[in-house]
Amino acid sequence: MKLYNSLSREKEELIPLKENEIGMYVCGPTVYGPGHIGHARTYIAFDVIRRYLEYRNFKVNFVVNITDIHDDMIKTANKQGITIFELADKNIELFFKDLDLLKINRATNYPRVTQVIPEIIEMVKSLQEKGFAYETDDGVYFKINAFKDYGKLSRLKIDESKGKTRVDTDKYDKDNPMDFALWKKAKENEPSWESPWGKGRPGWHIECSVMSKKLLGEQFDIHGGAKDLEFPHHENEIAQSEACSGKKPFVKYWMHTGFLNVNGEKMSKSLGNFITLPELLQKVNPVTFRFFISLIHYSSPVDYSEKNILQAEKTLQRINELIGKLIDLNKSSEVKETPEADEVIEKERTEFIEAMDDDFNAPKAWASVFEFNKKMNALIDEKKIGKHNSENAVNLFKEINSFMDVFSFEEKEELDSNLMNLIKEREKARNEKNWSLSDKIRDELKLKGIELIDSKDGTKWRKIN
Ligand code: AMP
Ligand code: ZN
Repeated sequence: MKLYNSLSREKEELIPLKENEIGMYVCGPTVYGPGHIGHARTYIAFDVIRRYLEYRNFKVNFVVNITDIHDDMIKTANKQGITIFELADKNIELFFKDLDLLKINRATNYPRVTQVIPEIIEMVKSLQEKGFAYETDDGVYFKINAFKDYGKLSRLKIDESKGKTRVDTDKYDKDNPMDFALWKKAKENEPSWESPWGKGRPGWHIECSVMSKKLLGEQFDIHGGAKDLEFPHHENEIAQSEACSGKKPFVKYWMHTGFLNVNGEKMSKSLGNFITLPELLQKVNPVTFRFFISLIHYSSPVDYSEKNILQAEKTLQRINELIGKLIDLNKSSEVKETPEADEVIEKERTEFIEAMDDDFNAPKAWASVFEFNKKMNALIDEKKIGKHNSENAVNLFKEINSFMDVFSFEEKEELDSNLMNLIKEREKARNEKNWSLSDKIRDELKLKGIELIDSKDGTKWRKIN
């Protein structure tokens, strides 16, 4: 199995540090508001990756942190007149509800920053003792010039001279303007914790170094986040963790997801195109959204638009229709089994896995499913699918679903014969262009909890509440 490593900028063979086990960490949300569709892009992508690794028999220890202390947390909690803890609890609950709807499996662990403050203080102290950090009037800073590998992830060229001259305009009197805060001394009315540097709170980057160390160890396999985090966040995580442990590499494979944009523009509150998860899930079926995201390579940008969602919906419907036909055939087919059908199924399994094994190339894997769809429909029309052939094909879809989680395997419900007769009567009225009778029966069925959906392939029904 190969994956693209943002650190080496090459596709590499996946060889975990411990055989068959993978430690995986993804930077989590800052919970000052409900989640947004950009979060969903990243967490669906990593959910598919994590579950595909499990499908390939790796045991995955998957950690996603929750950032519950941050400038935006403090501002929003003050505005709402609640504590940062209440704000976090409220939004975490909402976030988990939305993850469930999007069929994102729970991570092994969701550590919260405010629960690891003693460990954070320990790491900052240790960095100071080792000469990688220094105290100023307003906090403790990481000294990037002390860490010679600084910039290796983002291939940043550090201007050495900068580190030697103090920048007069820098009000905090940092050694280098690029040095970043590990600990921030408390300002008035801010949540704070006691520390060797007085009351204060952690800087942004230190949390991920501490939480990944606590739950995955000083060195682990995969670290992810969206591309926006590559610099400075992930660069700074590397500096903190490697400086502290003296071991390299902190992370073996770095993976970055492409950003989600809305109608071709960056999503932002000021542009008025910001879509929260509760807003999205009011209009779009969560499984359709998951499928839409799964169609795109994890590292590519995503363009969210209603047109693209509709397109995805139709595509998924075509696959589900095939699955429905296969389930029916499994019950009713009297056709003899054909080796031809089994060959098509086996070939699809191989192609799908080959594509996913190659840096989780989902677009290529899905393209093979669309081809498979055509071939299977042709075989059904040619009456070449027997009971076991269809079962075999359904099982393949179930395997794929163990990580994609988008298909529907519901068996068609039976309706009682009176309702079936009414549906047939209406079909007759419609064929005879007797619109008033046809509408009358349609309304009657609706009152009885059955909705009719007319399409060019005939009329379908579904139960409504
Ligand atoms: P945040 O809540 O901004 O700290 O982000 C949490 C996670 O979501 C990080 O891994 C981000 O990189 C990712 N993320 C934030 N916005 C987007 C977006 N528009 N598209 C994709 N991923 C995003
Ligand atoms: Zn992080």
